[in-house]
Amino acid sequence: MCKGRSLKRIISLSPTPPANAFLTKTDLKKNESFFPLQVNFCIDCGQLQLTHVVSPELLFRNYVYVSSTSAVFVTHFEEYAGDLIKRFKLNKKSLVVDIGSNDGILLRPLKKAGIKILGVDPAIKIAKKATNSGLQTLPFFLNTKVAKNIVDKFGQADVVTANNAFAHIHDLDEIIESVKILTKDDGVFVIEFPYLIDFIKKNLFDTIYHEHLSYLSVRSLSAIFKRLNMEIFDAKKVSSHGGSLRIYGKKMGAKYKVKKAVQKFLDEEKNLGLNETKTYLDFAKAIKNNRRELTVLLKKLKSQGKTIVGYGAPAKGNTLLNFYKIGPQILDYIVDDSAYKQGLYTPGTHIPVFPFNKISETKPDYIFILAWNFANPIMDKLSSFKINGGRFIIPVPKAKII
Ligand SMILES: [Zn+2]
Repeated sequence: MCKGRSLKRIISLSPTPPANAFLTKTDLKKNESFFPLQVNFCIDCGQLQLTHVVSPELLFRNYVYVSSTSAVFVTHFEEYAGDLIKRFKLNKKSLVVDIGSNDGILLRPLKKAGIKILGVDPAIKIAKKATNSGLQTLPFFLNTKVAKNIVDKFGQADVVTANNAFAHIHDLDEIIESVKILTKDDGVFVIEFPYLIDFIKKNLFDTIYHEHLSYLSVRSLSAIFKRLNMEIFDAKKVSSHGGSLRIYGKKMGAKYKVKKAVQKFLDEEKNLGLNETKTYLDFAKAIKNNRRELTVLLKKLKSQGKTIVGYGAPAKGNTLLNFYKIGPQILDYIVDDSAYKQGLYTPGTHIPVFPFNKISETKPDYIFILAWNFANPIMDKLSSFKINGGRFIIPVPKAKII
């Protein structure tokens, strides 16, 4: 973000395969690729970033995660579209370009409101599907060359957005330069991302995986914006992904006034210790303690002959499973609602994934909740199925049985 070199290694998780690289039975016999999973802290600007970049071609070209399968997200992005239209008085002449547009979850409501839209997303199949559904999406990684071609063909944009995408990109200078080409002089660049404050406060360490290169704060983003002659002029909290921030950026000197909210978030980050190395070292220590306690608990249950299965196979679950070394010797299987994952095995740990009804067939003694930050709604859902008096294991922030 600041091009500084005062980097300090703060978190070292286990080398892990890409979190979405689920395996078929045949794949289990082949060699799996593991990549380092470690985080550095920049003392100069507070940027938190992975030490190792896995090729984006490998991570994103065949991306399978589709945003619009979640009703909560669909609603969220409808509101987001409404916010943009109102704030920036968008009309039929306005153009919005969304970077990392996925299946067009933000573009759809904008188009419905009559605004001109364009998506850019390197996931070839998803981009094609979006285009076929009437939401034109270019299947590229954005760079300055692509940006120039877009401007030649479509004109400059009033608004450029990047939602849950900015932290996936390693050459951020190239992206900001591309955005500057793409946007009008008085245009805006809006980014939504999981917020560092929530990451630390809620101990969301399992959101560390190779797709997430940066863990973003207003302070670190301000550093890159400023260096490249842009400025953050507003920010607001939103609830996505356990706590996200939406920031509004502009070219330096453009018409929007910088709002007090920006300084408010900078102050909050400072007050929470996010500018200090110690905060992150404590964070890493807490994860390691938790791993030790949980491992003792699981081994005790297994020695008593108990059966344990996992609930949910999200990408982040794989960070936890690999770092805690939890494999099929502990979890007989995992259930997940995603048809894409059913019948496959978890990356690195090789636990089979089944549909939900497997639980009522095998009636396990314990259910290990991998999506632990949603433990309460999951337990509510499962209690209505009355599973054999089974109990729940919640791994984090403190290993406990309910
Ligand atoms: Zn820095």
